[in-house]
Amino acid sequence: MNSYLSLIKELQSEFGQVVEYKSAKGVTNEGWFLLEITPFPNPTELEQIVSDINNVRPVGVQGGKMVRLENYNTSDHIVLQRAVREALKHLEEQTYKVAVYVGQTSMTALKNQPIAIVIEPEISYFTYPYHPHINVGGYDKANKFYFPDSLCYTDNPQLLGSTQKERLLNAFSQISMWLFRHQVWEATRKYKKRGVWIGPETGELLPQHYPRILEPNGMCWCDTNKSYKDCHSLSDHLALANEEAKRTKIPQQRIQKVILSEEFKVWEQGIRLPKRDSLRQLNIAFNLS
Ligand SMILES: [Zn+2]
Repeated sequence: MNSYLSLIKELQSEFGQVVEYKSAKGVTNEGWFLLEITPFPNPTELEQIVSDINNVRPVGVQGGKMVRLENYNTSDHIVLQRAVREALKHLEEQTYKVAVYVGQTSMTALKNQPIAIVIEPEISYFTYPYHPHINVGGYDKANKFYFPDSLCYTDNPQLLGSTQKERLLNAFSQISMWLFRHQVWEATRKYKKRGVWIGPETGELLPQHYPRILEPNGMCWCDTNKSYKDCHSLSDHLALANEEAKRTKIPQQRIQKVILSEEFKVWEQGIRLPKRDSLRQLNIAFNLS
């Protein structure tokens, strides 16, 4: 695997920390990287970078850190959302450890893009039940592995590039930008319920989306500190049944019965989803715990 090692060297020289994943029980050891990303920019550039992201103007990433690309008029980089302005006052540097898988998977939803999983601090539907931009994880037949929830950092993986090196460097930059937006979003939750996701896509979830992404014993999305199964799960499952009835034209009552008696029961018994064991495996594999 000499070419692989030289690729890692090249990625390290251009992006920074890129650690090869050695091996761990139950997890394939090919195609995994660990990135340590600290996206927080130079504080003097913070407002302009946020404003540039809001206005879909290009921003740069150097070794995982956000950088301003161009100078605009001062009036151009006013941040309009009050919650964001408040949040920026308290924003601090934060380092994220991200496991990136670049091999093949059978998960069509991820269209064979590099899969990025933040393992420290954990970013998943378990830790952020109403996160606007996470891909729900799942079982991958090709690797016999439950992939944890991952970052939704690109809509069009084709645009990442053609060579593997180009694709990875672009993916790493997109991941860094996602992490910065996440950091801002997290901080804005103090000032605005559900937070503000800066930039064009808001990614808001509807009640019928939650049954397929939240864990029964995890927190509910409504911020009550109740477990999901003791809070909104029943009404969300009913919303899901209504949507399925519309989509399939199967009578609503019949769908409700199926979802509440079968799907709901299976879901309720999945007290600890295997995705969380996978997260632990990745932590061990990268020597983080
Ligand atoms: Zn609730």
